[in-house]
Amino acid sequence: MKRIIIIGGGVAGLGAAFKIRRAADAGVPVEFLLVEKDPRLGGKLLTEFVDDPRSGERFIVDGGSDSFLTEKPAVHRVAKLLGILDQETGTCDENKKTFIVRGGELVELPDGIMMFAPTKIAPMATTKLYSWPAKLRMALDIVIPKRKPPAGERLDESLESFVVRRMGRECLDRLAEPLVGGVNGSDAATMSLAATYPMLLEMEQKHGSLIRGFLAQRKKVEAMKRKYPPKPGQPRRTFFTSFRKGLQTLTDAMADAAGADRIRTGVAATRVAFADSTWTVNLDDGESLTADAVIIAAEPWAAQRLVETVDARTADLIGQIPCSSSATIAMAFRESDFPADTRWHGILSPMVERQPLTGVSLMSSKWPDRAPGGYVMLRGFVGGARDQQILERGDDELVEIARAQLGRLLGVRPDAEPVFSRVYRWERGMPQYTIGHLDRVEEIESRVGGIEGLAVAGSGYRGVGVPNCLESGEQAVTKVLDDLGLPFEEHVEDKRVY
Ligand SMILES: Cc1cc2nc3c(=O)[nH]c(=O)nc-3n(C[C@H](O)[C@H](O)[C@H](O)COP(=O)(O)OP(=O)(O)OC[C@H]3O[C@@H](n4cnc5c(N)ncnc54)[C@H](O)[C@@H]3O)c2cc1C
Repeated sequence: MKRIIIIGGGVAGLGAAFKIRRAADAGVPVEFLLVEKDPRLGGKLLTEFVDDPRSGERFIVDGGSDSFLTEKPAVHRVAKLLGILDQETGTCDENKKTFIVRGGELVELPDGIMMFAPTKIAPMATTKLYSWPAKLRMALDIVIPKRKPPAGERLDESLESFVVRRMGRECLDRLAEPLVGGVNGSDAATMSLAATYPMLLEMEQKHGSLIRGFLAQRKKVEAMKRKYPPKPGQPRRTFFTSFRKGLQTLTDAMADAAGADRIRTGVAATRVAFADSTWTVNLDDGESLTADAVIIAAEPWAAQRLVETVDARTADLIGQIPCSSSATIAMAFRESDFPADTRWHGILSPMVERQPLTGVSLMSSKWPDRAPGGYVMLRGFVGGARDQQILERGDDELVEIARAQLGRLLGVRPDAEPVFSRVYRWERGMPQYTIGHLDRVEEIESRVGGIEGLAVAGSGYRGVGVPNCLESGEQAVTKVLDDLGLPFEEHVEDKRVY
């Protein structure tokens, strides 16, 4: 029986554990032990059930990730294996409105905007989101020649350089920065498009213009919708998906299916080493574990330390992946204290507005059944590459900061007491894919590929999204099983399972 130690109990580590369990169930002689530093499993997936002490009614609060991109199949596939596919839920799209803060006021995102590119003339002409010179500058995208890929070099550019070059500074400041940079907690000046949104670079090369590229994409989507209208009774497919009882449903179900007896929480790996054909993992409780293989599914800064004793160059490369910190401030109000319209999903606050909250998500309108009737529940976001200092404030202060901004933006009364408030801190929780990220990851993969019995997984490498991380954990299992001479072929339905 071969033994694999998994370090890290986020979606990547648990995805690895569940896959090893499937391999074992299929007769592969392998077992695992997962160690997680925190007392709880799930990593950046954290769902809390909060009761209103007065009414006893229950709120479902996602403190970290709240959803995943529906078009990415990994979570649906694993949910089907776990028997929880029917617990998936889409967003309430009848409320799907997004606002952008401009001059302290809310401006609705104009119809036809795809990412940050306009594809409809009338809403663009009338919106107050951009000045007239900015609108004309954005239209120049249609005639600005494409940038030729540098000979022999990877086609890459920062978000800032790309958007300013094609559509002008105001497009970056008012929409691309909060939508693309802010949401990823990234700095637009250093964020690598090749590693995060390669389709933007490809679109420029293929169509010579983002507007033309997004127009072509819109036509394709509309044609698909006409060709495959939703069948009666079939749930609508929305852009984002979650689970009815919160996103942690996924990691909880993977942990249960993998086997709770093989998982240890509240204990951190402190050192990984390989000698005499055996891997050793030291734990902070003094214990020393041995195994045939190790999967490190921890954040890059944690993985760096663990890999140091195995391969210094790999550790150095992983250490070059910076991570930004952020916090999510969740709170609920009685509807009567919340005078604003509640038919919207989100507010984005551009950096140029210099507001503490980078965004607000109205959870009670975005998802079904997250808050009891008569209540409004939202989450505000602070931090990211834009403002790390705000995270030095205490929880109470952050709640007050959020209340003050909600008062200014939405008219929430200053004396309106939240039914509850919670602050979830994500210290160095979001890896930043800066220029050169893909070169670093290729070198990491090539070096780790040459070390038998070692794999790395998680948000540091090829996508921070939940489905990407889940897949990376599964790929890590494939790698170490191959190293151990135990290939495991799993039948995967190639047709859509959702
Ligand atoms: C606030 C926030 C909102 C997000 N929203 C979304 C979203 O809506 N949709 C989306 O797709 N993605 C979102 N993301 C990104 C996504 O949630 C994460 O990238 C993903 O969950 C990371 O999974 P992971 O398993 O790679 O890492 P993690 O979840 O970070 O898990 C790593 C685990 O390793 C453990 N660990 C670290 N060191 C050690 C050690 N030495 N020994 C043992 N254990 C260790 C950590 O405690 C942690 O639990 C969000 C991220 C954040 C922070």
